[in-house]
Amino acid sequence: MMRVLLLGGTAEARALARALHPRVDIVSSLAGRVPDPALPVGPVRIGGFGGVDGLRRWLHDEGIDAVVDATHPFAATMTAHAAQVCRQVGVPHLVLARPAWDPGAAIVVASDTEAAEVVAAQSYSRVFLTTGRSGVGAFAGSDAWFLIRAVTTPDGAVLPRRHRLVLSRGPYRYDDELALLRDHRIDALVTKNSGGDMTRAKLDAAAALDVAVVMVARPALPAGVRAVGTIDEAAEWVTGLG
Ligand code: NAP
Repeated sequence: MMRVLLLGGTAEARALARALHPRVDIVSSLAGRVPDPALPVGPVRIGGFGGVDGLRRWLHDEGIDAVVDATHPFAATMTAHAAQVCRQVGVPHLVLARPAWDPGAAIVVASDTEAAEVVAAQSYSRVFLTTGRSGVGAFAGSDAWFLIRAVTTPDGAVLPRRHRLVLSRGPYRYDDELALLRDHRIDALVTKNSGGDMTRAKLDAAAALDVAVVMVARPALPAGVRAVGTIDEAAEWVTGLG
């Protein structure tokens, strides 16, 4: 039986695990960033591999025949490492990347730093910041007030002087997002282009309330990787391997 490493930490990775287990011998991998993570079905390992060398060793020691990278679209380091190692050692490799959101009227930027520059340049005063704990530091010097939503506390990051921190995990509903934007008199939403349905309601709520949107574009996938957008396509690729 094929043994497949499924790089996860996303709802798509959990759905793919459900589609494959136990027909295929999968092992899911989580980074271990969040306490009490949602676990996929089947075997799971947790924690980094130790960079490119560690991943190469791990694939060899575990007898992995193929890798599906279903990490978050912004988990660029893990995605680069997996692409590099699989190419080097000749292990079949697929990226499952959920389709990006159409940015519509959003101001599209390339990084959290650029997003902070836009917030300053546009003089937004009450910002809903949803770029995750790693991006918060870019807004530390801002004069605006921030509603910061993250899964876990942004440890170590200097937070903006004026803010309220809300810890929560999606999925989020349209009505709740609408109320959140209204209650906090938000004039701008800062978001990554994560794609998917779990967190898209904030965009619809922002559009309904004429709230400006600043959207951080996704990092590009490594050159030459094979990528699909749906769980069905990824499951088909795995089962087609033999
Ligand atoms: P990253 O910057 O690409 O990865 C940093 C390091 O974390 C990697 O080099 C690797 O360590 C380890 N790592 C990441 N994903 C891993 C996985 N699935 N299994 C084992 N090790 C992993 O990734 P990140 O942005 O920190 O994201 C970490 C995880 O959270 C990912 O699994 C991703 O799907 C999930 N996530 C990320 C976001 C986001 O916005 N970035 C949002 C939701 C969920 P070594 O070099 O030691 O192997």
